[in-house]
Amino acid sequence: MRKPLICANWKMNHTLDDGIRFFQELELSLMNLPVEAVVFPTSALIKPLLSHSERIGIQIGAQNLNENSSGAYTGEISATILRSCGASWVIIGHSERRDIYGETDDLLAKKIHAALSEKLKVILCVGEHLKTRESGNAMDFVKGQLEIDLETVSVDDMHLITIAYEPIWAIGTGMASSPDDAEEMMSFIRNWISEKFNADVADKIRILYGGSVKPDNMADYSAMANIDGALVGGASLDAKSFHAIIEAAVGK
Ligand code: PEP
Repeated sequence: MRKPLICANWKMNHTLDDGIRFFQELELSLMNLPVEAVVFPTSALIKPLLSHSERIGIQIGAQNLNENSSGAYTGEISATILRSCGASWVIIGHSERRDIYGETDDLLAKKIHAALSEKLKVILCVGEHLKTRESGNAMDFVKGQLEIDLETVSVDDMHLITIAYEPIWAIGTGMASSPDDAEEMMSFIRNWISEKFNADVADKIRILYGGSVKPDNMADYSAMANIDGALVGGASLDAKSFHAIIEAAVGK
């Protein structure tokens, strides 16, 4: 049985005061709920927000890392530094990193390797542009991403990997994928994992949907057999909305 996982990607939003207020307003304790939640603030806020998030059972992660372990890389942050700040998760391959910063699958494979060397849990984002979906090639495209991104990951490390399927045309647009279309892709991803690794890895790995998730559509995704939670952008910035998404994910 896979525990639902709800992730908040704050992107470059929320100051320290906003972040502290968010956790104060959440009025929630995940300690006894059958759900895991992780907030991904900007890296500078990981350490100062940690005690606020841990108080209510929410973990903290980073939105990106550098593939090198240390050195002369001005402005960058490594897996080791993230670990030392209290991060336990990292998002790798978000479409904004791929599209705005030109991150390739070869680079993402190195970033995954760096994260795993510090035992950081990875949310690996994959997903197609609208043109690719419309041309009927979405599954081949996502398979191509997975093949390179996960090429060197061992079976033993796969328990540290979560996949987030985020169709790029659905991110921040309000144009969410239909639950059936998302489920079709998730099922395809799980089958691919089973073939590449094994059936046990495929059964245990969590696959999240991301793209215009809101409190009122979360339950429709959770009802799908292969959707194990969500990676949420815009609707995760507001504590009440994030709270409602968590409740919808556990069927409350
Ligand atoms: C995201 O950025 O990962 C995302 C899913 O954003 P939104 O929920 O705003 O579509």
